[in-house]
Amino acid sequence: MNVNHKGVLKLNKMERKFLRKQSKARHVLLKHEGIQAVSHPTQSLVVANGGLGNGVSRKQLLLALEKYGPVEALLMPPNKPYAFVTYGSIEESKEAYAALNGKEIIDDLGQKIFLYLNFVEKAQWKKLGLQALPPGLLVVEEIISSEDEKMLLESVKWTGDTSNQNFQKSLKYRRVKHFGYEFHYENNTVDKDKPLPGGLPDICNSILEKWLKEGYIKHKPDQLTINQYEPGHGIPAHIDTHSAFEDEIISLSLGSAIVMDFKHPEGATVQVMLPRRSLLVMTGESRYLWTHGITPRKFDTVQASEQFRGGIITSDIGDLTLNKRGMRTSFTFRKVRRMPCNCNYASVCDRQRKATPPSLPESSKAALQLEQEHVHHVYEEIARHFSSTRHSPWPRIEEFLKALPSGSIVADIGCGNGKYLGINKELYMIGCDRSRNLVDICRERQFQAFVCDALAVPIRSGSCDACISIAVIHHFATAERRVEALQEIARLLRPGGQALIYVWAMEQEYKNQKSKYLRGNRISQGDKEEINSDTPVEELLENQMPDGVSEDPALSVPSTNNIKKGGCKSRNVPNSELPVHRNRTSFHSQDVLVPWHLKGNPGKGKVVEPFGPAGCPDPSPVFHRYYHVFRDGELEASCKALGDVSILQSYYDQGNWCVILQKV
Ligand code: MN
Ligand code: ZN
Repeated sequence: MNVNHKGVLKLNKMERKFLRKQSKARHVLLKHEGIQAVSHPTQSLVVANGGLGNGVSRKQLLLALEKYGPVEALLMPPNKPYAFVTYGSIEESKEAYAALNGKEIIDDLGQKIFLYLNFVEKAQWKKLGLQALPPGLLVVEEIISSEDEKMLLESVKWTGDTSNQNFQKSLKYRRVKHFGYEFHYENNTVDKDKPLPGGLPDICNSILEKWLKEGYIKHKPDQLTINQYEPGHGIPAHIDTHSAFEDEIISLSLGSAIVMDFKHPEGATVQVMLPRRSLLVMTGESRYLWTHGITPRKFDTVQASEQFRGGIITSDIGDLTLNKRGMRTSFTFRKVRRMPCNCNYASVCDRQRKATPPSLPESSKAALQLEQEHVHHVYEEIARHFSSTRHSPWPRIEEFLKALPSGSIVADIGCGNGKYLGINKELYMIGCDRSRNLVDICRERQFQAFVCDALAVPIRSGSCDACISIAVIHHFATAERRVEALQEIARLLRPGGQALIYVWAMEQEYKNQKSKYLRGNRISQGDKEEINSDTPVEELLENQMPDGVSEDPALSVPSTNNIKKGGCKSRNVPNSELPVHRNRTSFHSQDVLVPWHLKGNPGKGKVVEPFGPAGCPDPSPVFHRYYHVFRDGELEASCKALGDVSILQSYYDQGNWCVILQKV
């Protein structure tokens, strides 16, 4: 028999590739998910890439699996890129294993996906923690008829005119209308003495009266926001400002269902299905303490069973599938608050939070308070938008990570959205950040990350070969705390281990840096390609400026109405002792508040609810982040205070002071 040498070679190559992918899938499932594959045939298989998390619906996967025998159980964990299938016999599962491994199927978005199967002892998956709705939350299904839904949707007159009295705003991915009251964008509060003419639409008044009579609501709202969302867009997690609105907040979902995520500050997450024509009622703990938000995506993970319509998505993973989002219009009704908020949730209450203006702290307790308010809280609120402006790694940081020996254990202290965690696949990198929302983003990207404070990192002393700390230390508000943060990094290093530290520099020299940068100094091919007319402004600036200094898109893209009002009033925080920095100007003080204009549509189309983070109704609410910008030599001096490290290198990089330390 003549064997076609080339053909055989090609087949072997493909087989090798396939085996490599299969074993990689196996390795990843074990390492990241704790799923142990077995080498002998069993009745159950784990199907890598066949998960709800990568866009495969229950129906489609069943279609592929049932060719090899009746499926006894199909477990599809929420937001995971794999599923478990159990057949009635080993023969059937062996057949599926042989036929489907490495085979492509088409997912719900029409993309090709290759399945990789491995046998498992038992199809099982750990249950999600919470099985109950957040206290005070209610979802009333079928609150209105299809006819009323149609009438309500038709009653909304979307016009291109943004100057009409109903305060319609047109953004790229959503449209918003306000009735009853308008907001002062500058200070995030409703103007309680200036109701909009016309009040609520008549059609809404009669529906609200009916709900009052039927007992679904206790108070008649006087403010309405209508939002129209396209599929694929979401709302960052937020709590509606306590001081602006009363306890009861209700939202009517029209046109399409959506899954809303509720998060307790201690971490519990509950996913709640809001069906079409349902009413969401938030009161008490669910309104005051839990954040709510919508993850931007085109599909939601929902219960498959017919009888389930709304409420909590349970961890019954034998009954989950995908639901394609459609155009959703929400009518959110609130009652403007007249009396100060006296809720029992002071930690998240804007009224009860300490009202002293931010000033340079004199004690470490005051420093912690400043950091909580103007670092931790802000990053939590801006996490999604912040992350959307953080794509490109800085060349010299990348260089540092790529030069580390393969297998090194590296901690990224203050990892943000994890943009450095995947730079060098040969390292074992783990990230941590003070912001839960940023850590969640890292996890969505399949990185290892956890929440912690940079002053107390729960990693054993001397266990890291290297650490990086990029744009973190400058957020500590006293010299002592900045040294403590450096000391904590040094503690993690083994003797001989190295740490790379970046902090913002007082000396910006923005223009020189820019021209130097664009002249081709230290510019990688990838960076060159990014600098073209299609590059989003935020991304360009990120390459030219230290993390955050001038990524602020509001200044470069003057598209929002608060620019024409002569800038944000919040630039001058009343009575503030800490100066508010003007973005893209040089620093005049070492301790400053740097504004962040939260954008609803940062390039990739995330959507902010009008009463979005901090309850601000504007597409561009302003947050102030505290920074201590370092002077030339200051970072080295702080490092010298540590004692057990030597400075291998120190340099200036695009508006940052940088050092490479080595543990002695
Ligand atoms: Mn809200
Ligand atoms: Zn409150």
